[in-house]
Amino acid sequence: MKIFCVGRNYADHAKELGNAVPEEPVIFMKPKTALMQSNAPFYYPEFTNELHYEAEVVLRICKNGKYIDEGSAHKYYDAFTIGIDFTARDVQAELKKKGLPWEKAKAWDNSAIIGRWIPFTDELRNAPILFSLQKNKETVQSGTTEDLIFPFDEIVSHISQYFSLNIGDLIYTGTPAGVGECVTDDVLEGFYGKEKVFALEIK
Ligand code: MG
Repeated sequence: MKIFCVGRNYADHAKELGNAVPEEPVIFMKPKTALMQSNAPFYYPEFTNELHYEAEVVLRICKNGKYIDEGSAHKYYDAFTIGIDFTARDVQAELKKKGLPWEKAKAWDNSAIIGRWIPFTDELRNAPILFSLQKNKETVQSGTTEDLIFPFDEIVSHISQYFSLNIGDLIYTGTPAGVGECVTDDVLEGFYGKEKVFALEIK
């Protein structure tokens, strides 16, 4: 099982971190040990002093494929949820400065949070996904997939030119503006519309 993530897929978020809007999808990966197992406690990692949340729509791959064309890409994912691509922003800043890979900032244990899966119906496939993140009951991020620079089908097709996609793989599709810090005792809650799909307490 593989976890793909798209970076800088919302223009307002690329700008808030001082990054250029990309011309092709920025892809990185997390190992399966990054996936937060349900009911496991989330502990603030020791190696960072600047833990950032990034709320994202996550796709679940339901069919094996390679060299998928955009027109049939929708057949390769069957459900979505809202998740968090946790980032040690201070670690990432250091690595970026040195031009080094991001894994220590992005791919550590439990850095990939997912909520409850919502199966795609025909109706849901054709509607934008509105999602938000609350920190301690205050909305800190809200987004709509209408603002994606690279929409789902383009992402799936692009990834599959380089990597085989397999059943059970996940794709974090990028975060809108409003990323920020969280600390011990904060409670993060992810929403699809008004529906809560996860709640996470930082210990
Ligand atoms: Mg992200």
